[in-house]
Amino acid sequence: MKKITLLFAALLLYTAAHSQEADKASPTYVVLKNATIIDAVSDTGKTGSLLIKDDRIETISYDGATTSPEGAIVYDLKGKYIIPGLIDAHVHITHGTLKEAQNQLNTALKAGVTGVRDMGGDGRMLTLLKKNMKIGEDIGSDVFFSTIIAGPEFFASDPRPQEVAKGAKAGEVSWQKAITDTTDLRQAVAEAKGLGATAIKVYLNVDKDLFKKVATEAKRQNLKVWAHGVVPPTKPLDITNGGADVMSHAGSLLQYQMAKGEIKGRHDFESREKAAEWKAKLDAIKWDKNTPEVIQLFDAMKNNNSILDATLFVYYYFKEDIKNMSDEALGQVDAFRAVTIAYEQGVKIGAGSDHMISEDGTINLHTELKLLTTAGLSNIDAIRAATIVNAEGLGQEKNIGTIEEGKIANLVILNTDPLENISNTLDIKYVFKRGVVVQ
Ligand SMILES: [Zn+2]
Repeated sequence: MKKITLLFAALLLYTAAHSQEADKASPTYVVLKNATIIDAVSDTGKTGSLLIKDDRIETISYDGATTSPEGAIVYDLKGKYIIPGLIDAHVHITHGTLKEAQNQLNTALKAGVTGVRDMGGDGRMLTLLKKNMKIGEDIGSDVFFSTIIAGPEFFASDPRPQEVAKGAKAGEVSWQKAITDTTDLRQAVAEAKGLGATAIKVYLNVDKDLFKKVATEAKRQNLKVWAHGVVPPTKPLDITNGGADVMSHAGSLLQYQMAKGEIKGRHDFESREKAAEWKAKLDAIKWDKNTPEVIQLFDAMKNNNSILDATLFVYYYFKEDIKNMSDEALGQVDAFRAVTIAYEQGVKIGAGSDHMISEDGTINLHTELKLLTTAGLSNIDAIRAATIVNAEGLGQEKNIGTIEEGKIANLVILNTDPLENISNTLDIKYVFKRGVVVQ
């Protein structure tokens, strides 16, 4: 009798183990049918259905024939619109606590932001967030980040890098490297890579030759190169020609290019007044779309495939005088005019807020999209700015950024058409990240 019981127990165990294995092996299918799919590849939307297998888009059909595998979860999305998951190309999420960052990324995901590019935060926190968001231990936007490289002056005098290197010395950790001509760049880039960074962000006090050296080494080790449009003392043209994949901030970009004499960084002045004086002189430089330096810079950015991460939001939101302007007047503001001309000249425009979330929980990437259309982008190109263009800036264009077979199923389902009104990116019905609906 004992023998039989044992045998029975063993059989039960075997069945349990076997069915658990079978569960693991059987994929999860989700069907999203009858929606208008705005894939960010073509310029228009088209009615069709998506079959998602686990975390990827398996098939897309436009002929009305939807195959739903047995057990598939089916969403009938008649009258709805699907766009790729949005990516904010410019965030700083580690200046508070880990818990705050987790909550912010959760809020961002629910607002359709399935990925973010952090521009120089605490690498320890970012590594953890990146892992947790990816495996679903935390529910939030996927995190991509950079190691920040700058001259020693920056780390010694700026409180921000010190804030995100607490417990260690700013500029001497794998997510922050102070460099000079004699730095072992191979080692610095290797440490960034080892930490899990997507890119090297080059910040202040790096000259033209050193910039090129850093960029070349980063690319050799398959990391992206991110920078501001200007990296004092290096001008925008030398940044794009030096190998920048993404250049941030449209404001003053052309004045920096046209300025006579040395370009100075924020710590190169003996007083605030001197800095303001210099900036006022800089901003007095006039330019338009026919100015040779303007044409030359944007031609170079186009040919080098350097994306302009415009961050129009920062020139708008914090300035009361600008915030209340009409769209027409707004379009004449320096940063907006630069975007208009860059776009007309064929430079790829990316969408980054530089301020992911407001105090009231508003996710500002949607405002950035609206501002990009104010600067002249078509609605589909504003959507591309926050999807495929930003995916390229991350080197992730094979995985995310469009709705295509084989790509990760990061999707936003909208109630109303964003090609009609860009603010409809806020009218969200569902968000899917890696094939799973966000609750
Ligand atoms: Zn920033």
